[in-house]
Amino acid sequence: MHLFVNYNSYKEPLLNSGLMTHELLKEKISTITNQKKIEVKIAGYSAQHREIYQLSVGRGPIPVMLWSQMHGDEPTGTRAFFDLFNFLQADDEHNDFRQLIFNHCTLHFIPMLNPDGAELNERRNAQGIDINRDFLQQQSPEAQLLTRLHQQIQPAFGFNMHDQEALWSVAGTKQPASISLLAPPADDLALVSPSRLKAMQLVAGINGILSSIIPGYVGKWSETFEPHAFGDNFQRLGTSTLLIEAGGYPGDAERQFVRELNFKILLYALEQITTAGYQHHSITAYHQIPQNVKELFHLLIKNVILPTPAGIIRVDIGLNHSHSFDAVPLQHQALYAIQDIGDLSTYNAYQTIDVQGYEFAHALSLGSLANFTVIDALNNTYSFQNGQLFFIRKT
Ligand SMILES: [Zn+2]
Repeated sequence: MHLFVNYNSYKEPLLNSGLMTHELLKEKISTITNQKKIEVKIAGYSAQHREIYQLSVGRGPIPVMLWSQMHGDEPTGTRAFFDLFNFLQADDEHNDFRQLIFNHCTLHFIPMLNPDGAELNERRNAQGIDINRDFLQQQSPEAQLLTRLHQQIQPAFGFNMHDQEALWSVAGTKQPASISLLAPPADDLALVSPSRLKAMQLVAGINGILSSIIPGYVGKWSETFEPHAFGDNFQRLGTSTLLIEAGGYPGDAERQFVRELNFKILLYALEQITTAGYQHHSITAYHQIPQNVKELFHLLIKNVILPTPAGIIRVDIGLNHSHSFDAVPLQHQALYAIQDIGDLSTYNAYQTIDVQGYEFAHALSLGSLANFTVIDALNNTYSFQNGQLFFIRKT
């Protein structure tokens, strides 16, 4: 059913580009407050006293808690939540599906847990604290709030929505990890507790549907136990918790496609929770999801001839955006820096230029902004000036 939902009729158009700011969030929430199905309240306040909202819907016995943007510069989950709100509030041919969800589940959304970080497009909160490493110390008001909500709601399922760097890729396929999934471990041994088992089965199911949409683009986030993090601790406390990381996808710098995937993942997951369908998925399928690795550059220049004191060598040049995190507007990531030089034949890239023996006049400096010009086999010119790329097509 979830796969037949026409995403574009629910996509929230105001959130398509630019920063996902708190002002924008408030504007969108004010339109929801007028609707009957979703209950909106201020759950608490950030360090700089911005409102943090809780949106609840449904009357079923299974409490589900979903939170996004605890890292302020990771807005994709928040955007997908608003698409989902549009779906949940609609009155159309999917009413039976909605009623099924509302009868079985009570959903509690906390969009943008870190509004102060979101305002600055930064990971941390206004105190400089990484909220997702503050579970034990509870020094940030945002971590205190999330903990209190977890105690109040006692969710059976938890969805922890993040963005990851576009440079994460999938082991074996070398494709970007457009979505990475994890049922976080609850201890050092990554034991399979009854609640973690459900999360693993649900992840396996999600991977199944994603494999039909983006085969080779789904990774598994590291299973290392992180004692300071919320997902790991909520798992330990008996909430079947899923980490969902939105990543890069070719041609999707604004992350609108992975936002749609988030929407589909959440609808599918809610259906699976409602019908207990996740029980049909195996732990083996979970373990077969390939690991997240870093075998990707933003731009790879292959087969450059480089003079060295010991003679001429042939190398590849791996370049990344100097601000390597992609969930920001394009203008912030336009500069290229030299990440690696050498035999990079085992790596992949969003864009590859083969210069087939183009010879350099001078040495290259690792870590610096790109300042050089290369010409490919078709005589197209790629000129980098202080990291900026100017492309001149051969006429
Ligand atoms: Zn994050």
